[in-house]
Amino acid sequence: MAKKQFKAESKRLLDLMINSIYTHKEIFLRELLSNASDAVDKLAYKALTDDKVGVKRKDFQIFITPDRAGRTLTIADNGIGMTREELEKNLGTIARSGSFQFKQEMDKAEAGKAAKNVDIIGQFGVGFYSAFMVADQVTVRSRAYGSDEAWEWKSDGADGYTVEPCDKPGVGTDVILHIKQDTEEENYSQYMETYRIQELVKKYSDYVHTPIRMELEHTHMKPRPEDAGEDYKPEYETHRQVETLNSMVPLWQRAKSRVKKEEYDQFYKEKFSDWEEPLAVIHTSAEGQMEYKALLFIPSHAPYDYYSKDYEKGLQLYSSGVLIMDKCPDVVPDHFSFVKGIVDSPDLPLNISRETLQHTRALHIIEGNVEKKVKAELLKLQKEDREKYLKFWKGFARQLKYGTVNQYGAKKEVLQDLLLFPSSKGEELTTLAEYVERMPDDQPGIFYLCAESVDMAKALPQAERVLDKGYEILYFTDEVDEFVAQTLMEYGGKPFKDAATEDALPETEEEKAQAQQKAEANKPVLDFVKEVLGEKIHDVRLSKVLKSAPVCLSTDGPMSLEMEKYFQRVEGGMEGMKAQRVLELNADSSAYSALAQAVAQDPEKAKKYARLLYAQALIIAGLPLEDTAEYTRLVCELMV
Ligand code: ADP
Repeated sequence: MAKKQFKAESKRLLDLMINSIYTHKEIFLRELLSNASDAVDKLAYKALTDDKVGVKRKDFQIFITPDRAGRTLTIADNGIGMTREELEKNLGTIARSGSFQFKQEMDKAEAGKAAKNVDIIGQFGVGFYSAFMVADQVTVRSRAYGSDEAWEWKSDGADGYTVEPCDKPGVGTDVILHIKQDTEEENYSQYMETYRIQELVKKYSDYVHTPIRMELEHTHMKPRPEDAGEDYKPEYETHRQVETLNSMVPLWQRAKSRVKKEEYDQFYKEKFSDWEEPLAVIHTSAEGQMEYKALLFIPSHAPYDYYSKDYEKGLQLYSSGVLIMDKCPDVVPDHFSFVKGIVDSPDLPLNISRETLQHTRALHIIEGNVEKKVKAELLKLQKEDREKYLKFWKGFARQLKYGTVNQYGAKKEVLQDLLLFPSSKGEELTTLAEYVERMPDDQPGIFYLCAESVDMAKALPQAERVLDKGYEILYFTDEVDEFVAQTLMEYGGKPFKDAATEDALPETEEEKAQAQQKAEANKPVLDFVKEVLGEKIHDVRLSKVLKSAPVCLSTDGPMSLEMEKYFQRVEGGMEGMKAQRVLELNADSSAYSALAQAVAQDPEKAKKYARLLYAQALIIAGLPLEDTAEYTRLVCELMV
């Protein structure tokens, strides 16, 4: 019988697929099993309304037979089968199959002369044609339901195919792969090894809902006979047994109420290689505009590479139990990139590419729901199990804070309730909601104070005034905290206020006038200090924030000292990223009196005092002294 040629398109694709250096050849099995399962589904569906089908749901199966001697691998199903016309149409025309998308992608890559050909393939369901990645000849014997003749389609790849009548008793399809000879680069024989087939079924097709069966050989040692003598040698016996390789009903398809916590934990640990149980499990399903089931996990700790660029976020995507993508980033928002899990939807196509996926509305819907579910779960933990939440916070605080700041605060509404900060009230971290709840009516805003640690913040003299009023202060000890406050601007209608600034507390007209008067009276002293410190300082002022401490450092302009530290460290000391430093002096302190006296009577001594006071201000702000030698000399001179 004359060979028929593949359509031109198909021929090119076959060449490409067979000849590309392809790292995921193993997925051919997933593709063929998925086709077989679809065929079974179609007949099972018919059986619901058609008694003549005569096969019960439990009798449907896919059978895999490796034959090492004959170098074949057969995948047989008792599904709907194909007529002669269908064999030709389905297996002879590429545009019919998912391989079409693959081809388009290859064309694009070629047009762009991009060297990405190799990787694209891994993203696709390449369909029936993938068989040719491991086989040099493929025979398909099929009998369609309702037909009394069977047909054999045979092809050795790019050359074309033949179709001839054949004998096949039952309805269904046998796909027989004539496995290629091993080469130096490629071990094809592995696809005839039962352990390897078991492994591949587990990896890609574990949740296909048709049983995938194979005959397995088990070897046992025979029990030692009672009368066995000294020279008894153990005897072995081998028996064969048909086993089902796939577990079929995935955890996420089971009713939530019927899955135990241990099962979820075990599943998570195995699937996502974590030694620790997840902190929370979210098992959910959606119907309506998009039907899917999702099983999400919040890990107990950040993976070692979480805060590096190596970390890849994403959930596993399944389409009715068939794995279609291992890490789909589009279904998890960046700020919850720690979430692990699975989404399974019959609405997702098997033949899927990153390109097409990105624009799929379906994924967007899922992403939105994942965000909502994860947020709700975290809030629940925060309220009902603070200890667990603190554990979560320990691992992922930075992620949530950066998430708040990123994209110009686009996600602040989602994240603000999840944030925690240390506070002047007690040892425990507090949420913004809890803080606002505790605020007295007259408190003008949410006070914060930036420092490198809680202890340093507590030692800052600038906050004394606010604390004396009985107001609570949040301690911002993380470099991103201040940016968070700037992004949020307010919470619950209360503005964020830096407790160390003059306008942290409202001033009466009378107080203003008094301060003005006092500043004028002290102008000679302030001018003197300014003159001595010169470039080091932007301004010298009488402090409105200090109560008992003699001196502190504050800033003019938008850049704070903590931000300056951040830019010096992170951005490698960017030029111009300097805060405008202001030395604040407390006119009511005894140190100030000594300074004023010296300015009037002993200017040389007054110069030393000015430098010393500036040094004190640096120390308390956690900034390095500019001249440590001078500082020690000055202190020692004073002692004498
Ligand atoms: P896709 O599955 O993406 O449509 P394939 O190239 O894998 O593309 O298969 C093409 C078509 O061949 C399928 O849509 C199906 O109609 C038919 N087919 C493949 N395998 C089988 C099978 N085992 N039983 C019945 N029909 C099959």
